[in-house]
Amino acid sequence: MKPFFIDYPQEKIAEHQHAYRCAYCKIPTTVIFGLIENHDEACQYRQQQSKWVQLEAKLKPHHAHFDEPHADEVD
Ligand SMILES: [Zn+2]
Repeated sequence: MKPFFIDYPQEKIAEHQHAYRCAYCKIPTTVIFGLIENHDEACQYRQQQSKWVQLEAKLKPHHAHFDEPHADEVD
């Protein structure tokens, strides 16, 4: 399941009664639909989030596949 990103700054679309868009890339929230990749590539919010995602990936320990000792294994 993909994480939803809905904490981006939004602004009202003047031409539409109940429509909002990203304050940075001006893409409507109905198009973004909570997905980071639906923001414009140059979107400040998207770039910021991407940075965090990359940073998190770096901080997460990679589970190396080392052999667990099998104490109960008998030759
Ligand atoms: Zn955006």
